Amino acid sequence: MIADNLASVTHHIGEAARKAGRDPDSIHLIVVSKQVSSEKIIEAYQAGSKYFGENKVQEAVSKIGEVNAQDVSWHFIGHLQKNKIKYLDSQFDLIHSVDSLSLAEKISAYCEGQNRKQGVLLQVNVSGEEAKFGMTPSELEEQLPSFGQLQGILVQGLMTIPPQDFDAENSRQYFSALRELRDKYRAMNIEGIELNELSMGMTNDYPIAVEEGATFVRVGTAIFGQR
Ligand SMILES: *Cc1c(COP(=O)(O)O)cnc(C)c1O
Repeated sequence: MIADNLASVTHHIGEAARKAGRDPDSIHLIVVSKQVSSEKIIEAYQAGSKYFGENKVQEAVSKIGEVNAQDVSWHFIGHLQKNKIKYLDSQFDLIHSVDSLSLAEKISAYCEGQNRKQGVLLQVNVSGEEAKFGMTPSELEEQLPSFGQLQGILVQGLMTIPPQDFDAENSRQYFSALRELRDKYRAMNIEGIELNELSMGMTNDYPIAVEEGATFVRVGTAIFGQR
């Protein structure tokens, strides 16, 4: 069943990509495995998934150990507390959810101590919803050069979570707004900043995110069922 669901999501990504004139291989499916057992993660891995997303530090670290597959790329997609950075260690290829300069400074200092650069995305609250984590577009504009100065991280792109909406079409405006921010700042060639990635789209709206330029979609429910 997991394999069938994966095939279906992959098919929809391909259709949306073709519709938008994009190469389907330029979009990575992150299988969101939060609250899902290691057995089910292994099932998805055996069906061909190589990218997994987790949102809680302790849960992620223990499942990474249990799954124990060298060719899996783990992605941290949840709100990250500064005192948990050390537990992430070097196990995540990308942290999608950096939402302040002070968090980025802490991650950077930790990774500099390990002599490496951690790939991160900056989470932007494009909709301006009160309850959402993420930087406002004006904070992003002001602070991007400072993110670029941090030696222990590399900003590779932007991430957003639009307001929950029954009608997925309503997400489109937020996805296109994120892409426009990405295009604008990428064209400025800010030192130390690479903005090639756009992490956007979940179960209810990932085909629309692909149409609007997502390079990572983060899908859980459509693959594992309701949590
Ligand atoms: C849970 C979660 C997802 C996946 O959501 P689904 O609706 O289950 O696909 C994607 N991104 C983030 C940040 C999440 O927390």
